[in-house]
Amino acid sequence: MVVGDFPIDLDTVVIGSGPGGYVAAVHAAELGQKVTVVEENAKLGGVCLRVGCIPSKALIQVSHDYQTALNSGSEGISSAKVDLDWSKVQGYRASVVQRMTNGVSYLFKKNKIDVLHGKAFLKDKNSLRVMHEDGAQTYTFKNLIIATGSHPIEIPGFKFNGRVIDSTGLLELKDQPKELVIIGGGYIGCELASAYANFGTHVTILEGTDAIMRNYEKDVVKIAQGNLEKRGVTIVTNAMAKSATDNGDNVTVTYTLDGKEQTLTVDDVCVAVGRKPNTKEIGLEQVGIQTDDRGLIKVDAQGRTNIDHIYAIGDIVAGAALAHKASYEGKVAAEAIAGQKSVVDYRAMPAVCYVDPEIATTGLTVAQAKDQGLDVKSAKFPFSANGRAVSMHSPDGFVRLVYTKDQEQVVGAQIVGADASDLISELTLAIESGATVEDIALTIHPHPSLSEAIMDDADVALGMPTNI
Ligand SMILES: Cc1cc2nc3c(=O)[nH]c(=O)nc-3n(C[C@H](O)[C@H](O)[C@H](O)COP(=O)(O)OP(=O)(O)OC[C@H]3O[C@@H](n4cnc5c(N)ncnc54)[C@H](O)[C@@H]3O)c2cc1C
Repeated sequence: MVVGDFPIDLDTVVIGSGPGGYVAAVHAAELGQKVTVVEENAKLGGVCLRVGCIPSKALIQVSHDYQTALNSGSEGISSAKVDLDWSKVQGYRASVVQRMTNGVSYLFKKNKIDVLHGKAFLKDKNSLRVMHEDGAQTYTFKNLIIATGSHPIEIPGFKFNGRVIDSTGLLELKDQPKELVIIGGGYIGCELASAYANFGTHVTILEGTDAIMRNYEKDVVKIAQGNLEKRGVTIVTNAMAKSATDNGDNVTVTYTLDGKEQTLTVDDVCVAVGRKPNTKEIGLEQVGIQTDDRGLIKVDAQGRTNIDHIYAIGDIVAGAALAHKASYEGKVAAEAIAGQKSVVDYRAMPAVCYVDPEIATTGLTVAQAKDQGLDVKSAKFPFSANGRAVSMHSPDGFVRLVYTKDQEQVVGAQIVGADASDLISELTLAIESGATVEDIALTIHPHPSLSEAIMDDADVALGMPTNI
């Protein structure tokens, strides 16, 4: 029984335990703060660990393993009997999530971080209420980091229910669909389309604009899109989704194409058209915290809102809605609270789309560099000339370096190919440390490795290619 709401005094409070919140909390604790995290979900780790990055990559991994098992005949491995047990696929996904979310609990214990399970709502500049099943409690704070993340956008005519699902629903489907529609050809839609296509589901992507994966350059997308289509994914662009009718056993999706109404009846329809920041219903207006017209909280280069001791990080502030960006901002905010002069620098921000082959970018494209007034050149090296890629059945794709004409300093890179998600870090470090293409060319890379394509590309940039 709650007898009275006497405030409990806390020092540094973090709302949300996603990759923004938990990293901020751990770093703040490492820097000497006494930290408390408020999390409304029973599991720690946020969207990323529970229903985002981690479970999607677990499914993508299983889908690759399945394809490898099916297609290893040419290597002398028999694929006479390969079965897919969907409940075990889902069990594997759940076990990976469990392991990672437990990891966050462990990190909190190790760093003596307290966790309050409940929904936080700001009361004023120095206090918040945490609401939970048994009531509510007020806490005061000296510093606050808001890291409440985002949720999927629902579109008219597609209320999430039954066979009309969001990305979380698609990750956790109890039965594998034979036919699936994904509305939205952004990176989340395309990654999940790729995974389900590998599992043998026929996927149709309905994209409202004239292209999928619009954040990436055309020559990069062409390779990944070609591969999606080769694996049977139907991509319909300029398709405006209108409504979905759940028929019980299946769902009928209506959309317009070239002004004509079309329908598709499939097992499930997933809406993946983007995400909205969780900045409503947390009491920002009680405190006067400023947001922009998209509901994103306005912050300075340390993540500080217009209220001095309140910070905001991750999907609720401007920039790419990515886990590593949230974590990076979390560290900067923790350091700012500790009195350090750290500021964010987004020059070398990687972004990955885990389709087949993977797409990974960092820094600037040629067009972005030119927009910024930089005089740049680019050099491209294909994976078809890389022995490791060929031996991995992955000759598709290329590495492109973007570098300044005068100093030959690396300012950006795009990779499409196997393991691009890991390869991009070398080039992110190159940008971060101000390396030139010569630095990369002079760095001895192991042979045979995919990373040699980066060194070979630097040789191309220097006008002295060896392997092409
Ligand atoms: C399917 C999918 C795949 C993705 N794949 C990738 C990927 O491969 N790479 C990548 O970089 N990004 C990926 N993302 C994006 C990534 O998950 C997000 O950018 C990231 O999780 C944002 O981190 P965050 O800390 O800002 O918020 P979140 O991870 O959303 O965490 C916010 C937390 O705050 C809690 N919360 C919210 N409001 C309150 C409240 N009032 N009180 C208490 N707690 C509250 C929530 O319960 C949640 O746990 C993916 C997203 C999805 C949906």
